[in-house]
Amino acid sequence: MSDQSKVDPGRLLTPEEMKPYLAGVDPSIKAVAPGSLGKVETPDTMAAQEGIASDEHGIPADLAMQSRALLRHQREHWPMLAKGFESLETVQVRTFDFDGFGMKVQFNPGRIVSSSAKVDKKSIRERKCFLCQAHLPPEQKGVLHGDYMVLGNPFPIFSEHFTIPHMKHVPQLIRDAFEPMLELSAAMGRFYTLFYNGPRCGASAPDHLHFQGGERGFMPMDTGWEDMAARHGTWVADDDRLRIARVDDGLRRYIILESDDKSKLMQRFDQLYSAFAEASRLAGSEAGEDEEPMLNILTTKEADRWRVVAFLRRKHRPARFFAEGDEKMVFSPASVDFGGVCITPVERDFHRITPDDLRDMFNEVSVTPEVLDAVIKKL
Ligand SMILES: [Zn+2]
Repeated sequence: MSDQSKVDPGRLLTPEEMKPYLAGVDPSIKAVAPGSLGKVETPDTMAAQEGIASDEHGIPADLAMQSRALLRHQREHWPMLAKGFESLETVQVRTFDFDGFGMKVQFNPGRIVSSSAKVDKKSIRERKCFLCQAHLPPEQKGVLHGDYMVLGNPFPIFSEHFTIPHMKHVPQLIRDAFEPMLELSAAMGRFYTLFYNGPRCGASAPDHLHFQGGERGFMPMDTGWEDMAARHGTWVADDDRLRIARVDDGLRRYIILESDDKSKLMQRFDQLYSAFAEASRLAGSEAGEDEEPMLNILTTKEADRWRVVAFLRRKHRPARFFAEGDEKMVFSPASVDFGGVCITPVERDFHRITPDDLRDMFNEVSVTPEVLDAVIKKL
């Protein structure tokens, strides 16, 4: 068997390929006009102004900047991905107001593949894994970061959308991957929020560990979390180093962890995981006893603090997903939907869905307030 973790150098975007796409990659860094102070805007002088180290090729040591450059490169060199991002220009959006917060609904026909993906064990066994290096399309390039590779997502929801698979074909499980998720969030934190879909919570590759990333600010939860905690939640722990909130907004039940201390976050997440695994077993959940409790997780690092939003679930898809006729609605919620952007890949569903439909379906797939309480008590 070949060593899956061995990186194929042909997969990596070379410094020469990346360089042209780095100029102006961070609009918040003011370019120095040519002639003034004798400096010209180049990726390395731009990065140097912010104190970001550059390597010997002049590439800034910032994964977010490199990832943005990667996506720009891929849009020019990989037609399928370019088409995916162009199709975003035609998506339609509706916004529903709930109790002090908004939820968006996006009609995105490109997502039908993911929304209706078969993720049962037999289907997974019989398909080629699309996250393994050996099966990536020839045009696809990546940026390596530790054991993970940042890739452009050819079926985007965000205007910048990444898939970040582990180099090895290992199962989608968060318990031992939470630290790398925090580290990747820090490395991508300049522009992006990361998310994790549990193996029974919307991951279309439950057999291959991966995260996704998209530009921060797109999901209402990116900017609304503090408000949500104030209006619909309680801060159950609150000091300078670690804050924990319990939130029930009438649709979703979730826990927010916020800290500048990685080890504290890891310790609390581990407690959350154990408590939720136990509560899920007692309350009944689609996840079996030996499986991961059902989670979607958003993480980001902004101004030196990590923020983790863990949505607690009991079901993968609402009953209406499997219904026939008018009752049927193709809504298969994962992290982005829980983050406040609900994807409807069928146009008819997009036009007829109501706030009450959303409320019912989120409640159906989310844990009860009692389960949320049982988890919070252990934190
Ligand atoms: Zn794989």
